Amino acid sequence: MARYIFITGGVVSSLGKGLASAALGALLQARGFSVRLRKLDPYLNVDPGTMSPFEHGEVFVTDDGAETDLDLGHYERFTGVAARKTDSVSSGRVYSNVLEKERRGDYLGKTIQVIPHVTNEIKDFIEIGDDEVDFMLCEIGGTVGDIEGLPFFEAIRQFAQERPRGQCIFMHLTLLPYLAASGELKTKPTQHSVKELRSIGLQPDVLVCRSEQIIPEKERAKIALFCNVRPEAVIPAYDLKSIYEAPLAYHQAGLDQAVLDAFQISPAPKPELKVWEDVKDRITTTDGEINVAIVGKYTQLEDAYKSIKEALMHGGMANRVKVNVDWVDAEVFDKGDAAPHLEGYHAILVPGGFGERGTEGKIKAAQFARERKVPYLGICLGMQMAVIEAARNVAKIKDAGSEEFDHEAGKKRFEPVVYHLKEWVQGNYTVTRKETDDKGGTMRLGAYDATLAEGSKVAEVYGTTAIEERHRHRYEVDVKYREQLEACGLTFSGMSPDGRLPEIVEWKDHPWFIGVQFHPELKSKPFAPHPLFADFVRAAVETSRLV
Ligand code: GLN
Repeated sequence: MARYIFITGGVVSSLGKGLASAALGALLQARGFSVRLRKLDPYLNVDPGTMSPFEHGEVFVTDDGAETDLDLGHYERFTGVAARKTDSVSSGRVYSNVLEKERRGDYLGKTIQVIPHVTNEIKDFIEIGDDEVDFMLCEIGGTVGDIEGLPFFEAIRQFAQERPRGQCIFMHLTLLPYLAASGELKTKPTQHSVKELRSIGLQPDVLVCRSEQIIPEKERAKIALFCNVRPEAVIPAYDLKSIYEAPLAYHQAGLDQAVLDAFQISPAPKPELKVWEDVKDRITTTDGEINVAIVGKYTQLEDAYKSIKEALMHGGMANRVKVNVDWVDAEVFDKGDAAPHLEGYHAILVPGGFGERGTEGKIKAAQFARERKVPYLGICLGMQMAVIEAARNVAKIKDAGSEEFDHEAGKKRFEPVVYHLKEWVQGNYTVTRKETDDKGGTMRLGAYDATLAEGSKVAEVYGTTAIEERHRHRYEVDVKYREQLEACGLTFSGMSPDGRLPEIVEWKDHPWFIGVQFHPELKSKPFAPHPLFADFVRAAVETSRLV
């Protein structure tokens, strides 16, 4: 039976609950325990798949094809444990399950209520895979006091009550605001937040206090007294230069020790922190820097490309260089010249995306990178743009484009080099889709195998010819243009095992130009940078030395 750590937040949102949870997961691993992290989100969307990246940041895709919250990305990057569909749930999903059961008659005519039906559904979800790990860390989205969050708080209260004593603990994150005028850190919001928690039956065992200033011992003791928490379980959390310093910082602040003490695990196994020390060293001791342009659509909101940014940092760590990222809005040169916006960058990355807006600019970015021999990494839509560019400008296929934009416009304007995929093989099954399918969860999602061509650049980068990567797309490069494009020098160097779906393209006579249909950024970790990102950054370092 697993032990459970429930992580909640108070005072304000965006305190870094996900990061604290992920860092705690890493620290428990460092002490030899196995962990799984879970996110319970109170919003009513069934999953974040259909939410705009402007609203919710990036959609993180799991191997088993779930579209989840970006916090699951943090969890994976810190623990290396591949997240699953069952690691993320929202109110929308919970209610839709409950209503489905009600329609099926599963509740035998009972009146359906938040307690017990909704709370039971949440509890069932929390304990999936209970026997697989030592610790299950469950983070509740939002802040205590939110109306939508109440069923979740009630469910974790019941859950802990029903388990043997000492099996569940509660960790609460708060903020200590600093009043410059009086030069004081204020503890009152924290006291109120804990009071709110206690009013719904939850007593935190560990308090993590975010603060921009050092928290004096006196204030720590005061928080402990007023919040009914042991003084050594009041953990200060200060701002860090890099999120990857969080495991070491939280360890020094005593977080993992406080958690083990709360479970009365004694003696606590000694932590092995070499991995995180090495990660920190690679961030702090660098030799040189490179400038990468990410040419995309959601450039105002960096969270929309969270995993890509992190993967680039990991690539930097692999090469011990600092990676500076500039967000370039592709729409700016949709009609104009890309060169003035892209000159001077050591590498160009065109990320995934949906819809036609900005695509002409992305196509120009691919052309610029090809012609000027600047390293280019195209991810998903970024690969499709590179293929369209090759088709239009090199293979001279008139009006080459993607069906995605024709569908949007409701008329045929393009030769569909990229077409709407309606049937594909997943394991031993054929998956089919219709034009009229819902927008949610109907893409080619999750992990698929690809076979790489011997002697290709990607085979060299990966060091193998068999890979598995995560997908999230509806459209696909049409293999019928393969011969024509390869004759021009664009090699189809990665294919689905049945040879029908192009997975990777690369330009033969180019120092580094690779487009991938999948999302390699989702699998990169600070302690295991993804080979494509590590090599992309290496190529950029070479370019930087030429200039
Ligand atoms: N919009 C494209 C598709 O659906 C690309 C998706 C993506 O970049 N994730 O195929």
